[in-house]
Amino acid sequence: MQIFELTVYFLLGLAVGSFSNVCIYRLPIQQSIILPKSHCPSCKTPIPFYYNIPLFSYLYLRGQCVFCQNKITIRYFIVELSTALFFLFFGWKYGLSINLVYFLILIPVFIVIFFIDLKHLIIPDSLVLLIGILALGKLFLPNLDSIFASLYPSALGALIAFLFIGGLIVFYQYVRKIEGMGLGDLKLFVVLGFLFGIKGIMFILIVSSLSGVIIGSIILISKNKNFQSQLPFGPYIIIATLIYIFLGLPLINYTEKILIHYLQSIYLT
Ligand SMILES: [Zn+2]
Repeated sequence: MQIFELTVYFLLGLAVGSFSNVCIYRLPIQQSIILPKSHCPSCKTPIPFYYNIPLFSYLYLRGQCVFCQNKITIRYFIVELSTALFFLFFGWKYGLSINLVYFLILIPVFIVIFFIDLKHLIIPDSLVLLIGILALGKLFLPNLDSIFASLYPSALGALIAFLFIGGLIVFYQYVRKIEGMGLGDLKLFVVLGFLFGIKGIMFILIVSSLSGVIIGSIILISKNKNFQSQLPFGPYIIIATLIYIFLGLPLINYTEKILIHYLQSIYLT
């Protein structure tokens, strides 16, 4: 692939990452994501375009607002760089195709959910809906990557997610009288179940739960919070989903192969 094409994907990623930052800041406070123009969160001064260049502005301004000298969170830099690298990767992997379109929508949505839930403990419905639309749309797109499951595994995946997470929420609410997981987590799990099917959602359920329990416990102990404290679960779901996208399918297929081989060897001897 030409360097030029790859550069375009990277730059597009920077621009989309910049827009993602706007969404992360504005969606939870119900502000329009289009108008007004970008302004400093501290002093509200509109940011001129030459101070609003992805990556470089942050480095050049050394993480400070040029007008009020308040610190700018490193999140801006992280979101822009990670989005650009993901765009570069998927552009390289798929080239201009419907698969690429899917990932170039999904990745920013995942990143925005990660950071909004991390800070505000909510997962905006609009973002979950967007994943849901892609999950339905794939049924009409026969040339999509096999990571997007077909109808029956998808329906089963959504059902399993609904029953398992729904059951968990009911259990926490009525038995332990605490809010363990929110409805936002449930909705996200269900659309992911429909998008990636039964294998995918099993992987995401297991990996997110395990990492949630381990990392959550470390945070609770180190910050001396009690176990009633609310912790966001969305970030773990997103991390697990990204791991599934990059490693999940080969990992599952490999495990299946070994298992079948093992069962055959027992059966045949
Ligand atoms: Zn400022």
